[in-house]
Amino acid sequence: KEEFSRGALRTKTVEDILTPVRDCFMLNSDVVLDFNTMSEIMQSGYTRIPVYTEDKSNIVDILHMKDLTMVDPEDCTPLSTITKFYNHPLHFVFNDTKLDAMLEEFKKGKSHLAIVQKVNNEGEGDPFYEVLGLVTLEDVIQEIIKSEILDE
Ligand code: ADP
Repeated sequence: KEEFSRGALRTKTVEDILTPVRDCFMLNSDVVLDFNTMSEIMQSGYTRIPVYTEDKSNIVDILHMKDLTMVDPEDCTPLSTITKFYNHPLHFVFNDTKLDAMLEEFKKGKSHLAIVQKVNNEGEGDPFYEVLGLVTLEDVIQEIIKSEILDE
């Protein structure tokens, strides 16, 4: 049983379990924290929210829900003021990272969320980093539970 679970963690990658970018709740770095934006963030229910500039493959910050505790929507504070103040570290991993390695990184690091990217060299232009989605410790734990149940 132990063997099988470890096997799944050794062979599966973050790409197999990530939340795809189209389903990710993210914020454009140029938004203002007014009443509407703050309600939208609260309603999303997510603890951590990636912040991008221009397009979603260009993630520049991460906002934690608790960063908003002292923000008054009346002040219309720019999101960038808050992200600059807290300056949480960003954690990027490549799409082919195996789940056992990802679990080790989550155990070592402070952040339990990673942005998954791949090198896109399809097409004519220069290769570029493309964001595929995000993966959290929760996703890895779900995968461990799933493989243990399957093996029963
Ligand atoms: P939370 O603490 O925000 O609930 P978890 O780490 O418990 O997040 O993850 C729960 C699920 O939500 C996972 O599948 C994870 O990939 C996904 N998730 C986390 N943050 C976001 C986000 N900003 N947008 C979309 N999905 C997210």
